[in-house]
Amino acid sequence: MASGRYDLVVLGAGSAGIAMAVRSARHGAKVALLEPGALGGTCVNVGCVPKKAMWFAAELAEAQKIAREVGFDVQPGALRWPDFVARRSAYIDNIHAAYRRRFEDVGVELIAEPGRFLAADRIATPTRELEAGRVLIATGAKSLREPIPGGELGIDSDGFFALRAAPRRVAIVGSGYIAVELAGVLRALGSEVTVVARGERLLAAFDHELGDALAAAMARRGIELAFRRKTVAVEATGPGYLLRFTDGSSAGDFDELIWATGRHAVTAGLDLERAGVALDAKGFVQVDDWQDTNVANVHAVGDVTGRLALTPVAVAAARRLADRVFGGKPESKLDYANVPTVVFAHPPIGSVGLGEEAARAQHGDTAVKVYRSEFRPMLTALARGEERTRMKLVCVGEDERVVGLHMIGIGADEILQGFAVAVKMGARKADFDATVAIHPTSAEEFVLM
Ligand code: NDP
Repeated sequence: MASGRYDLVVLGAGSAGIAMAVRSARHGAKVALLEPGALGGTCVNVGCVPKKAMWFAAELAEAQKIAREVGFDVQPGALRWPDFVARRSAYIDNIHAAYRRRFEDVGVELIAEPGRFLAADRIATPTRELEAGRVLIATGAKSLREPIPGGELGIDSDGFFALRAAPRRVAIVGSGYIAVELAGVLRALGSEVTVVARGERLLAAFDHELGDALAAAMARRGIELAFRRKTVAVEATGPGYLLRFTDGSSAGDFDELIWATGRHAVTAGLDLERAGVALDAKGFVQVDDWQDTNVANVHAVGDVTGRLALTPVAVAAARRLADRVFGGKPESKLDYANVPTVVFAHPPIGSVGLGEEAARAQHGDTAVKVYRSEFRPMLTALARGEERTRMKLVCVGEDERVVGLHMIGIGADEILQGFAVAVKMGARKADFDATVAIHPTSAEEFVLM
């Protein structure tokens, strides 16, 4: 059996693992990167990247209707789904190739095998045994299903990316990011969609006005929303599915079922107990603010830690860790506060900082002041549509520091990033007021409230 000694062995070549491997190698570390599957992990293969492609397709489907409404002589046509998937795959293939080139450039040794712990500083693959100065656990997460009768039926987001046509009628269980994003895409591409939420609202973790406005927008697009419906069983009914709920009601005749009920850490087969690495109550690898596990020189970053499961967070945390352990920057770590995020719903949502409810709970009612703007964006008005864009600033204290900035509406996905800089810098409402607007845009409303 071959063996070798590395400064760093990385388990998993997703967003976190690749970022850590490349940055560490640039700092001069000898790095082995273990990945038995596709390079890029969830984000590149079955997450952000193919999702955004599908979101663009859905946006184009909606744009065709708007074009017709405003006077273009066009008939909205259906997507040739397999052709589009071929483009999507080609785009992803380019990313894989770029990764391979980067690994060669910086000297990361890619080993296309799974790794497991023999001890905290020894990793085995099917063909090798590696001595590791440090180990990074970056094996990501997979979709979670409730252990209910029929819970194994249907597909998850991975299965969504294997589709080659819009299902006629689809049920999506869940009310978080994945549920609302897939619902919007499938509806725009022609499916009849029912979202089954066990709670009272969509995107419950966000400022509540966002989820409520999104629910109205989804209903306007013909998406059926079933709230307070906890799915307790699924039955296969010939070619379709029937869902049974706790309140005794049921819904059926779905020819596809998608589970979007959260994620669990991928740790099976890692033999973490051989290294003594501790998991939290939900099975995620426990880390402190420095991405350190309870075992010296064993670190974890990304979805496997259960902290803000977002690619840019994983990349940023991994690079800072690499800078700390190999780059001579002992204070380097990621600040997890004020991470901006976009939900690629229809319309999109952008959010950074505290929602109003969270701000009131954290700072007290009297300290919080909220500014809102609500309007029909110009293109919607030209198309005689009803949908309104909503924006909100959540401010705290005498000097009205902006602790939350939220938007649902056309362009939110691209507008948010710049404003996230301002929030991160501690901008006050007065700073927004002092900034001259760009007219006519939706974004200007943030400085005109
Ligand atoms: P989320 O945490 O966003 O949502 C999980 C949803 O599952 C919640 O609505 C929760 O409901 C619901 N749920 C959990 N258990 C059950 C159950 N037994 N029955 C019914 N509903 C249930 O997770 P997702 O899986 O949607 O996405 C995973 C993560 O991936 C996200 O948190 C995000 O970090 C990331 N992601 C980011 C995207 C982006 O940046 N645009 C896109 C997609 C994913 P309740 O609210 O009632 O608890």
